[in-house]
Amino acid sequence: MHVATGLASAIRRSRCPKGYVTARGCANQAIAELRLRAGDDAAAYLKVMKRADGVELEAVDGTVRARNFSIGECFTAEVDLKSAGDADRWGLGRVPDLYYRIPPERWFWRPWQIDPESSIRFELPDGWSASVPWTPTGNRSYRLGATPRDWPAQTAFGRFPEHTLALPGGQLRVALLPLVDATVQERMFDWFRSNSALLLSNDGRLPLRDTQVLIVPLPGMSSPVPWGQVSRGGAAAVTLFVGAAAGREGWQADWTLAHELAHLQHPYLGDRGRWLAEGLGSYYQNVWRARHGDFSATEGWRRLDAGFARGRADGPGPALELAGGRGSTMRVYWSGAAYWLESDLALRAHGSSLDAALAAFRDAHLPSARAWEPSEFIAALDQTQPAAGLSARYRKYAALRDFPDLSDSYKTLGLNPDGLPDGDLPAHPLRDAIMRPPGAVSLTANRDAVRR
Ligand SMILES: [Zn+2]
Repeated sequence: MHVATGLASAIRRSRCPKGYVTARGCANQAIAELRLRAGDDAAAYLKVMKRADGVELEAVDGTVRARNFSIGECFTAEVDLKSAGDADRWGLGRVPDLYYRIPPERWFWRPWQIDPESSIRFELPDGWSASVPWTPTGNRSYRLGATPRDWPAQTAFGRFPEHTLALPGGQLRVALLPLVDATVQERMFDWFRSNSALLLSNDGRLPLRDTQVLIVPLPGMSSPVPWGQVSRGGAAAVTLFVGAAAGREGWQADWTLAHELAHLQHPYLGDRGRWLAEGLGSYYQNVWRARHGDFSATEGWRRLDAGFARGRADGPGPALELAGGRGSTMRVYWSGAAYWLESDLALRAHGSSLDAALAAFRDAHLPSARAWEPSEFIAALDQTQPAAGLSARYRKYAALRDFPDLSDSYKTLGLNPDGLPDGDLPAHPLRDAIMRPPGAVSLTANRDAVRR
């Protein structure tokens, strides 16, 4: 049975400081059988759920069922934020009176299916902000959109500002949890802001119109960015765990930020497309950082070459498309990067580029609220320049158990497959074009725009 309904929820301000949140959902149509669900273990944090007439609703196997919901009728769910925050495996779920970082799967009871136009509005104590993946529509309201209800997401509420970085093609909403003192917070935010121009290094425009960025500082941690991830629930969003003790130099030398931002260029590709997704991140983390001036073009090639060597050293494994699960991480990531390098070369040989193919994909299909079959994603990119044969190369790669042979591509690039020489590589039109922002796009100008 399908239930489609509009849903408007409000988090009541009065309950927040005490560690409870009250979410209210209202139906915009009559529903014969309403089924509400959050994540699998959400019932453990649900204090009470009631209908408008005060009748309590119970969760059975993680699902709350209610019959004959009338139009305009609301339910309220009271969730214990304290225990939901304490359930965070890293102990970063809450600090009393400062913030809660709790994924929607623990607090957001919603119908199994909703109208994508459904909205959620937050009522928070003064000085509190929300960091959520949904699309803002003003007045602390957000459009929930059509992503599947079980896609993971990150949400945080607390005494922190949400900074909006307006860039060509959209905005980044950046929140930094108040886990370190104000000076370190500011330094960390400055680092993110000056590197957000990485996202402009394809054609000067963001891959997405609106993106949530959540930065979780780790006090005392000297590893610069030990963990980063892109979640897809609600919309694609970036979470970065940043070691506070690493400092600006340490953060700037780390590749995780560039890698995670590069993931915003593709839709969710599922487990079978993990090699393509991680390959795209691994390829662009180096290309973008060279374009951004973090290091030279030679250094970009050196890092790609070192990555391919790590992938090769990993030995054979299951076919790439079956390798979505555990193990052979280096082979999976760097075989994927090899796929994108070879595709980029083929596209450039036919007057296009991977940048152009991804920009065309963005314009036609992003943001996307659904999972894409890996072959479907490649077929869409292939339309840009079919002569480059992205789909045929995809089928060949997907079945590979060994690391791909890159010797022809290295020849095209004027690189020695047995190792790169010491010192700077000589000028080479194709090699240099890849590590340089395309066209006349000036990242310096964009960087200034970010600072203003
Ligand atoms: Zn990744």
